[in-house]
Amino acid sequence: MGVGFDMEAKKQHRVLIIDDAFTNREILKEILKDEAEVVEFDNGKDALDYLMDHFYDLDIVLLDLVMPEMNGFEVLEFMRRKHMTDYLPVIMISADDEERNMEYAFDLGAIDFIARPFSERIVLRRVLTTISLFEKQKELIRQIDVQFKPDDQKIDELTGLPYKQNFYNKVHSQLLSSGNMKLWMVAIDIDHFKLFNNFYGWEKGDQYLRLMGRYLSEFTRRHGGIAGYLGGDDFAVLCPNKSAAMEELEKKMTQDTKRHKSFGVGFGPKFGFYEIENNADSVEKIYNNAVIALDSIAGDYTKRVAWYDLEMIGNVQNEFELLSDIQRGVDNKEFVFYLQPKVDMKTKKVVGAEALARWQHHDKGLISPGVFIPILEKNGFVSSIDYDIWNMVIEWIASMLKNNVKVPPVSINISRADIYAMNVAETLQEMCDKSKVDYEYLEVEITETAYMEDFDLINAMVEKLHAIGFKVSMDDFGSGYSSLNALKNMDVDMLKIDMRFLDFDHENHSKGVSILESVLNMANTLALPTIVEGVETKDQAEMLMEQGCELAQGYYYYRPMPVDEFEKLVK
Ligand code: C2E
Ligand code: CA
Ligand code: CA
Repeated sequence: MGVGFDMEAKKQHRVLIIDDAFTNREILKEILKDEAEVVEFDNGKDALDYLMDHFYDLDIVLLDLVMPEMNGFEVLEFMRRKHMTDYLPVIMISADDEERNMEYAFDLGAIDFIARPFSERIVLRRVLTTISLFEKQKELIRQIDVQFKPDDQKIDELTGLPYKQNFYNKVHSQLLSSGNMKLWMVAIDIDHFKLFNNFYGWEKGDQYLRLMGRYLSEFTRRHGGIAGYLGGDDFAVLCPNKSAAMEELEKKMTQDTKRHKSFGVGFGPKFGFYEIENNADSVEKIYNNAVIALDSIAGDYTKRVAWYDLEMIGNVQNEFELLSDIQRGVDNKEFVFYLQPKVDMKTKKVVGAEALARWQHHDKGLISPGVFIPILEKNGFVSSIDYDIWNMVIEWIASMLKNNVKVPPVSINISRADIYAMNVAETLQEMCDKSKVDYEYLEVEITETAYMEDFDLINAMVEKLHAIGFKVSMDDFGSGYSSLNALKNMDVDMLKIDMRFLDFDHENHSKGVSILESVLNMANTLALPTIVEGVETKDQAEMLMEQGCELAQGYYYYRPMPVDEFEKLVK
């Protein structure tokens, strides 16, 4: 047997290795050398650039979890958003087998998780098995699709709606018989449905799908059109061009699902609307456009509805460019923080500060976080910026203390994504320990909506932060849906109320005051200290003091300022 020849013949797989450590890559290459051709990258960004063009040519990705700049989760998240994980299996490799990391990797679409140290032979087996299973699965799906194609009568049992091909066929005939009539395709799915199933179990999940099915059948009975079920949590409706119908579809469905207690915030249905331009287009293409609209708001809990327009395709491209630009900005250390003082309204003394991110773009100038944070939050990349900002803040506090400057506590902001990307409490503790900064100098702000979306995870993190000795504030209180009851279960040290969320325009002035009053009452009942932010005028400050508020943050007192200005202020 010609060994050499045999080896060549077997080298049929193409493997992509993404790992920042040279030795790790060498070890993996050595393991795979007889079986596969290897492409390697030492960072996530270059690997993603490569994947954008080549993922069809690859058989598997071996992805390191811990890498600087862009970690494995971020790479995986990106791949999932681009639907690469549907075609290409990813095995995550990590230095430990912490359950939470493994689970998160699987949630993001990893096929397997290997912890170091590993046996070389086992790794090879797992890689080869994964490749062949994945190929078999793809083949099976192809066969099933072919088999079921003739079955165009299929009604999904659970939802009672026409299933996939049946739906497509029905839509196709309706489109053909509609002449020039304008119709819409609406793609619908349920936010965080996987998580919902995890929380409440599959039975509750099925119940939810059944409810959606029932509602959609009723909708089409009253307004015409066709509803269908496409598997998973994906529904679609061919909807007549009546604005009342479209509005009702979204409004009523959102309300209906909210009425069921557990189907509340964070688990509502989302809608992507596409106005069908050409009734002769294939239904797959039409549905896909509605899905593109839907995808544009995936993971963004502030948006329930999106409309397809041609710019969307461009936006995906823009977002990619922006992300690359941000990565470059991170490398160039263009991200800094400003400080906005918190004051005691009576004495006007500075009693604290909030660190706010700023991007000093090399040719666009200063960019506010309102521009880049939401995008980074959506895809999880915010964590690497946050990590840098926290580090800079803590090092700055250390340098002040070393120069005997009295600094007040500084608060930093935390995003939901941070909780998934790292162990926030321990990270902050390590940073403080390294710089020899007492924990009382640092405070943590978490927004109310984040709290509502990831209640258990955040509570666990807050517990850890408290055990270490950090204070925690709930940011933007009043923006979400927390009730007194929910508040009781959240163990925070301070409520931060944002005036701008309370309807304080001229007509609504008294309404704003009464909302504020009731929020302050709530806080009082729970003996929770409060601070009001967004204070812009003298009138507002006086009104707040009348209501018994003591602490404030806002343009009326100080705007966010560069660090050296703040130094002058406290010196
Ligand atoms: P936030 O945490 O609610 O921060 C307060 C925002 O209100 C800041 O906007 C601040 O400049 C602005 N502000 C303060 N007083 C007034 C006022 O009197 N009137 C008005 N109109 N605005 C006022 P900024 O700096 O643009 O930050 C926007 C948001 O971006 C922040 O809202 C926070 O959610 C996020 N963010 C900022 N820095 C970071 C960061 O380092 N990490 C994370 N994850 N998020 C950050
Ligand atoms: Ca904040
Ligand atoms: Ca805030």
